[in-house]
Amino acid sequence: MATTNTETPVQAVTTAIEARACSVCKGSGKLSGVFYRAMECDSCDAVGFIQAATGQWLDSFSVDRIMQARRQEETLRKKAHLEAARKPNSGTPDTWTLKNNLRLD
Ligand SMILES: [Zn+2]
Repeated sequence: MATTNTETPVQAVTTAIEARACSVCKGSGKLSGVFYRAMECDSCDAVGFIQAATGQWLDSFSVDRIMQARRQEETLRKKAHLEAARKPNSGTPDTWTLKNNLRLD
């Protein structure tokens, strides 16, 4: 029986290394400052995840795995976007997928 894996790479890695999303930055690793600059979160050392059991920072091996999973997610997202852009548009222009920011309508 085939099962569909709906888990993202980051979710798979954080489950494997027993990490949870940082409650301060909500898993992003960045905070909005006074003038909306992306500041690094001190609570999780700008990783976005902390150890589930202790709430401490993750070790460098776990951080590397999370960063690798994030790059993998970005690649998958870009690939899906390209796949969608290659398909011919159908329906009305309101439902078209933008291609190179040029709609010609
Ligand atoms: Zn954080």
